[in-house]
Amino acid sequence: MEKKNGLDVLGELTGISGEDMRSIATSVKANFDKLNACPYHEFKEDNTSNPAHRKQYRCIHCDGTIDQSRYTWHEKGRRAKPGYYPRS
Ligand SMILES: [Zn+2]
Repeated sequence: MEKKNGLDVLGELTGISGEDMRSIATSVKANFDKLNACPYHEFKEDNTSNPAHRKQYRCIHCDGTIDQSRYTWHEKGRRAKPGYYPRS
């Protein structure tokens, strides 16, 4: 039996190629790195995102993006628990 890695299995389930998943994972990690390094976020609605996708908010300082749910909590003054954002 052919040995499959996690990406192969996910690719079969989602129809997304391993290469595309690597690219998505890389951009997600880059976004978290930007957000984590920013001392003070000021989010504005991101009009550059695809209107077919969920609404995004972009920080004018670090250029990191978050979704509506995270934006709502951020604006309420809630902070993510330390270690909440994956680091690798
Ligand atoms: Zn920021």
